Amino acid sequence: MLTQVQEKFHWSKAVWGRFNIPKHSFILWLAVQHRLKTRDRLSRFNIAEDSACLLCAGAEESGTHLFFECSFSQECLYQMKTWLGWQAHTEALQGLLRWIDRSRRSRFQKKVLAASIASLVYHVWQARNSKLWHSSIISPTLLVQEARWQLKTRITCIMPKQIDQVDKEWFESL
Ligand SMILES: [Zn+2]
Repeated sequence: MLTQVQEKFHWSKAVWGRFNIPKHSFILWLAVQHRLKTRDRLSRFNIAEDSACLLCAGAEESGTHLFFECSFSQECLYQMKTWLGWQAHTEALQGLLRWIDRSRRSRFQKKVLAASIASLVYHVWQARNSKLWHSSIISPTLLVQEARWQLKTRITCIMPKQIDQVDKEWFESL
């Protein structure tokens, strides 16, 4: 029970971070609890027959696979990390959120990292849905460009007035 509480604690700040776009927070909140209707779950209830990942077709689609074991989403994560200069070795969603929670980066930078994860999870889920419903597929590069543009716009709009010079320069360099 205690571990469950601790688990929840480390991700709740990142999930509901102020820089997150609300609809991104909502999808991330479902994802961390494995409540998205992924194909492994649907096939268990006999709702879907094919449970292959729609983005890479290389494995069964599950939350763990999509965030971020999948070759498609892994490429998105890699591009996002490169953009942010984020050197976390983990590629697992829970691991990334734990990394943010324990990191010694400034509060501002942690909020930006959390928002970037929320955005990635949202956009990967959207890409998966577009493939499912419209058979259209976006490239990881385009997906990350869109996510980056949204993040920059959102955070610039709600930028705190009191911001450390180092954080300001870091954000402006992105
Ligand atoms: Zn995949």
